Amino acid sequence: MPYATIAKEFTFDAAHSLPNSEGPCQRLHGHTYRVQVVARGRIQPVDGRAEEGMVLDFTRIKEVFKRRIEARCDHQFLNESVPIERTTAELLAAWMLAELREELPLVIAVRLYETPTSYAEVTVYDLEDAPGAPNVQEGSAR
Ligand SMILES: [Zn+2]
Repeated sequence: MPYATIAKEFTFDAAHSLPNSEGPCQRLHGHTYRVQVVARGRIQPVDGRAEEGMVLDFTRIKEVFKRRIEARCDHQFLNESVPIERTTAELLAAWMLAELREELPLVIAVRLYETPTSYAEVTVYDLEDAPGAPNVQEGSAR
C-alpha cells in the first residue's frame, strides 16, 4: 500500500499575552486559533480491521486532540494553562506536536494559525532530538 499524508483541522478560542513583545501582543488579548494536525504513514491494508484503507482514523486524531490540547487551550488563558515559557505560535505548535506524538506517533506536523494570515508550523524534523535536526551548538563550534 502507498503512503499518504492526512490532516485534520480544529479551532479554539483562547487568551494570551507576550510580556516582552514590543507590539500589541504584550497586552492581554485573544485569538481564534486554527490548528492543522498532519499525519503521514502507509495506508493500512484492506483486511477487515477498523482502520483498513486508512493511515489513521480522523476520529482518533479528534479524540486525542480534544483530550490533550483542546481541554487545556479552549477558553483558557494560555500563559497559565499550557506548560511552556512563552505562548508564541511557534512554541505552542511545538508543544502540541510533542503532546500529540505521545499517543499518535504518525503525527508529523502541527500548523497553528494565530490569525487567518499568520501561522507557525513545527514538523518532526524540527524537533531537537530528531535525526538530522540542526544542532546549533555543534554548528557554532566549527
Ligand atoms: Zn496574540
